[in-house]
Amino acid sequence: MTAGTAEVAVFAGVRGPARTFTYSVPEGLALEPGHLVRVGFGPRSVAGVVVRLDAPYRGTLRAIDALVHPLPLLRGHQLALAAWIATEYRCGIADAVRAMLPPALAGRARAGLPTARGDRREPVFALTPAGRDALSGSVRLGARQLATLRALAAGAVSSADLAEAGGASVAARALARRGLALEGARSVRRIPREFALGEDDAVRDATATAGQADALETIIASLGTSAPFLLHGVTASGKTEVYLRAATRALAMGYGVIVLVPEIALTAQVVARFVARFGERVALLHSALSAGERYDEWRRVLDGTADVVIGSRSALFAPLERPGLVIVDEEQEPSFKQESAPRYHAVDTALALGRIAGAVVILGSATPRVTTYHATTIGALRLLRLPERVSDLAMPPTTIVDLRLELKAGNRGTLSRALRLALERTVAKGEQAILYLNRRGFATVVLCRDCGYVVNCPACDIPFAYHADGTLLCHRCGRHGVPPERCPKCGSVRIRHLGVGTQRVEEEVRAVVPKAALLRLDRDAVRAKGSHAALFERMRSRRAQVIVGTQMVAKGFDLPGVSLVGVVNADTVLSLPDFSSAERTFQLLTQVLGRSGRGPAGGRGIVQTYLPDHYAVRAAAAHDYAAFAVAELEGRRRFGYPPFAKLVLLQTQAKRPETVERRADSYATALRADAAGDAEVLGPAPAFAAKRAGSFRMQLVLRGARPQALLDRIPPSAEWTVDVDPVTLLG
Ligand code: ADP
Ligand code: ZN
Ligand code: ZN
Repeated sequence: MTAGTAEVAVFAGVRGPARTFTYSVPEGLALEPGHLVRVGFGPRSVAGVVVRLDAPYRGTLRAIDALVHPLPLLRGHQLALAAWIATEYRCGIADAVRAMLPPALAGRARAGLPTARGDRREPVFALTPAGRDALSGSVRLGARQLATLRALAAGAVSSADLAEAGGASVAARALARRGLALEGARSVRRIPREFALGEDDAVRDATATAGQADALETIIASLGTSAPFLLHGVTASGKTEVYLRAATRALAMGYGVIVLVPEIALTAQVVARFVARFGERVALLHSALSAGERYDEWRRVLDGTADVVIGSRSALFAPLERPGLVIVDEEQEPSFKQESAPRYHAVDTALALGRIAGAVVILGSATPRVTTYHATTIGALRLLRLPERVSDLAMPPTTIVDLRLELKAGNRGTLSRALRLALERTVAKGEQAILYLNRRGFATVVLCRDCGYVVNCPACDIPFAYHADGTLLCHRCGRHGVPPERCPKCGSVRIRHLGVGTQRVEEEVRAVVPKAALLRLDRDAVRAKGSHAALFERMRSRRAQVIVGTQMVAKGFDLPGVSLVGVVNADTVLSLPDFSSAERTFQLLTQVLGRSGRGPAGGRGIVQTYLPDHYAVRAAAAHDYAAFAVAELEGRRRFGYPPFAKLVLLQTQAKRPETVERRADSYATALRADAAGDAEVLGPAPAFAAKRAGSFRMQLVLRGARPQALLDRIPPSAEWTVDVDPVTLLG
């Protein structure tokens, strides 16, 4: 006898796409969507999640074997969100459901949830009845043991308690050997050191600035609805403080809070402030956790012990009972896009969660994506602005240095004369400097060092990429080119691909300021010398005076001593052949310039570039977001990029180039034959990483109002990956 059917997302393996299968429900099993169940799958018994009941019946069905846990592990709003993700990003609902469960559960087919595994354990002690009698002086004890005994009698439990009371765990163990105490262990949950920096209590009680007060009033009045906001605030305008206060209010109203940060290790300060303010109510969910730790944090949310969830993308999927406020800090960060199935964008998914669960969503940024900004102009998002820095700090006046002129003046180094001078002065005054170097896009562009001319694809107006074999290639349309020997614009022969590394800059800085304590922060340095947090601490304590680094110095380095930020090469990202290159450049420059002048010494910025007239460089130096957005949106409209068109990136790969070419051509032909007004088919072209792990890769781009509709009519074979709303076409 059975009682209907159930569609189950089956976790048959850790890798590969997850799928749903239909099972019959045994009589007497009170099944609900969200239940974790055990099902037979081939010869095996595996775990799965019920995604819906009464699924259409197909052939003979196997029955669900058992419930793994009596309560549904995915809540109703989570299942609805999984369905939204599956439709929007064209993945299986099982992929979305799997992303919502901690990895430790997906392989779980035995009954019951695992007990906490990631917890560290610490020794604990208690008195025995004999120990209590000793207290009367009937047993002779050394001073340390006596103090320990007294501490235990007064309620001390852990080594830390004992130490505070003048006892010690060594002495407690000695007491245990004499039968006067018992030793056990308890699990402790430790906030990693970098998140336990604490915070200045004064900030908690400080009067809100006028901008903060306005923003908070609007946000708080909206709690309980699904109002979405863009909080556009310049660096150091007090956005984090708005999040903290809005969260306090949401919690007081009984709502749970989700805070997404782009990369948790690089935003330790923001996380630390949440931990300082909400303590044990905070659950941290991020990729650096072990599977066990991740499970524990997830479990604390499920149990209701934690109702403030902070983490990268996947924190969005925490099983809060009543999410009422979802915050996405630094909404512009590309890391919010997941690059494997389900390929969701955490910002759009946060907005969807807000609509589904009735939660307020705040997207925060000093440099929102123009698509997000555009949404405020058409009423899809409400704009809240914090146009000024807290405590009247000025934005750092910024100079643009034209590197073409440096070369003309005979300076072949990577530091301009202006930057050298500023560095010397900053160090002489005992202040600190950040030198920022962009490594992304390193050496992919062909540029004239005399006039700044960049060799573009004539059809797409985006830079050709320079390849190691000496050819040029457009990664959008596939057109080939030959690098010119002379600049087509000014005739110079100094036209070549460009790039410098952090080490080279470090050496030059050493020569300019030999006495300054110097740090280097790039991926290699982090690996070799310890964490981002440790280097930050050396700057904070002023043991270091100058730091040279890549993207990482732009994040979280809020240091009052920094009065100079120098950008060594503003152009490298700008020159990447991508629709979002100008936007990324503006964002990175704004972010790194925002590190300057956060203290009483004030600050300044210097931006070195071969393209001093580019709107992204000029607007960043002028701290003028609106000017940037207007110019960028105009370009996006003209060339048909988001928000004026939606993109889908389709990629495929094969060991033999003929195979992948044939496949790409035939699919492109099929799509073109059916493409009506709803989508345009671009390509096929080789992918930016045209060869990866021994496979040749090609791509197609669909562009239109709703290009997914074309995919519904002509679905791609399993050999294609589908990326809806890609953040880059250079994957
Ligand atoms: P953002 O997130 O916009 O960069 P923060 O919230 O980190 O800005 O605020 C910048 C600095 O100003 C922080 O050191 C913060 O503690 C402080 N701050 C924020 N709001 C106030 C306020 N109302 N009064 C005084 N200091 C504040
Ligand atoms: Zn030129
Ligand atoms: Zn092209």
